[in-house]
Amino acid sequence: MAGVWVYAEVTEGGIDPSALELLAKARALDPEPAAVALGPGSSAVAAALGRHGAARVYWSDDPVYSDFVAEPAVFALQQLVAEHGPELILFATSYDSRDVAGRLSALTGATLVANAVDIPSFDIAQTAIMGGSTRVDVRLEGTLKLVLTRPKSFVAGESPGDCETIAIDIVVPDNLKRAKIVERHTAQAAGPKLQDASVVIAGGRGLQGAENFHLLDELAEVIPGAAVGGTRAVVDAGWVPYSYQIGQTGSTVKPEVYLAFGISGATQHVVGMKGAKRIVAVNKDEDAPIFALADLGVIGNALELLPKLIEEIRKG
Ligand SMILES: Cc1cc2nc3c(=O)[nH]c(=O)nc-3n(C[C@H](O)[C@H](O)[C@H](O)COP(=O)(O)OP(=O)(O)OC[C@H]3O[C@@H](n4cnc5c(N)ncnc54)[C@H](O)[C@@H]3O)c2cc1C
Repeated sequence: MAGVWVYAEVTEGGIDPSALELLAKARALDPEPAAVALGPGSSAVAAALGRHGAARVYWSDDPVYSDFVAEPAVFALQQLVAEHGPELILFATSYDSRDVAGRLSALTGATLVANAVDIPSFDIAQTAIMGGSTRVDVRLEGTLKLVLTRPKSFVAGESPGDCETIAIDIVVPDNLKRAKIVERHTAQAAGPKLQDASVVIAGGRGLQGAENFHLLDELAEVIPGAAVGGTRAVVDAGWVPYSYQIGQTGSTVKPEVYLAFGISGATQHVVGMKGAKRIVAVNKDEDAPIFALADLGVIGNALELLPKLIEEIRKG
């Protein structure tokens, strides 16, 4: 049965939102797309995958898929592909899915395109080049095509229809249980995740030091649904961890409001935040490129403005 499949990541926290975004695109390309969910919790999320557009869900709760790195999942996918012959499989741009897609490509000879921002048809994937300012069509050839898509490229939505959930019973050979995951660490963070926040408060080199980033945390405390991020410059300087980084080599965010403090607006940063509905920028240089993008631009010193803004919001 040819068609479009989605490799749906399932974690301890449930279904990864990327799977629902990919299903929205899969459904637009194929009225009956399938999803593959592997690892503990997959049976529990199968119905949700169906509600978001999957006509079939191949699932397995076998812990082998979460206990070992990539190889068992690739083996299962390879068996399923051989049996059902999908034409196109969509993957999220995550560490795990990149690993799985790359290995599957190597084993099957399938075409693999990374960093896609759209898939207009079965034969074309679009990627963004020149810091996200230009889109190019990449022609997909071969009988099996694998596409890794950038986060937030598609909007998830419910799409009612019948869904068949199919338990798979694939025995993974012992020689593929090589890299065992022995520990997992979850970064502790208060408030919403950067990618899910409705308001993103981002800081750049203009904040002048790690010691000033607490001003952004304080602002996030008084704005419901806000999370703090930053530019690569401040990550490279060690002011904040990599998980804060927004842009080409960091996260993509699409909040309702993006507040940029002391950020110049380099293309590599802009590509990760230009989808925000409203952009407010504070920069002391009136020629900063971020102002070309901003709905509201404030020419001024962020370090002076931030405490006043926090105070005003606290007053209500
Ligand atoms: C391959 C590649 C990938 C990259 N990926 C990313 C990425 O994912 N994300 C990313 O962000 N960058 C990325 N970069 C880096 C990017 O090119 C920029 O260097 C970076 O975004 C600049 O960060 P910034 O705006 O904090 O710093 P700067 O460009 O130094 O800008 C600081 C701004 O602060 C202003 N300022 C100074 N003091 C104040 C003050 N007191 N109040 C208000 N404003 C003030 C200045 O006028 C200036 O505009 C990448 C670069 C490359 C080559």
